[in-house]
Amino acid sequence: MSAKKPNYLLSILSMNCPRCRKGKLFKNYSAYNFKHTFDMHEECPVCKQKYNMEPGFWYGTGYVSYALAVAFSVATFIAWWVLIGISVSDNRVLWWLLTNSILLIVLQPVLMRLSRTIYVYFFVKYDEHYETNEPRKFDY
Ligand SMILES: [Zn+2]
Repeated sequence: MSAKKPNYLLSILSMNCPRCRKGKLFKNYSAYNFKHTFDMHEECPVCKQKYNMEPGFWYGTGYVSYALAVAFSVATFIAWWVLIGISVSDNRVLWWLLTNSILLIVLQPVLMRLSRTIYVYFFVKYDEHYETNEPRKFDY
């Protein structure tokens, strides 16, 4: 048998190729190198899976990005509620809103990369025989 299958969630978080879960999706490690935030490999350096499947493929990431932002805001709201508390008699809700907005802006490059990663994971499944099988092709 081949090596153990890399963990799904960890592979997404480390932004690895969906097919082999070894090759990197992005050329630069840091998402904060703004000129190169979205510089991706044409295909996986390890298994040759193409990432940009068709023209305009990445447009759909907008929905993923939106869902991530909502999920993130819900999480910070719950954390705020537990740690600081929410009340109608003071401005604590407004402070959460401000803090959450700043966090969303600061984390935007990471969230956008993560949306691309999650999006490509919808279309390409893990293939344990990636060394011998042909990468998935898309006809358009
Ligand atoms: Zn790969």
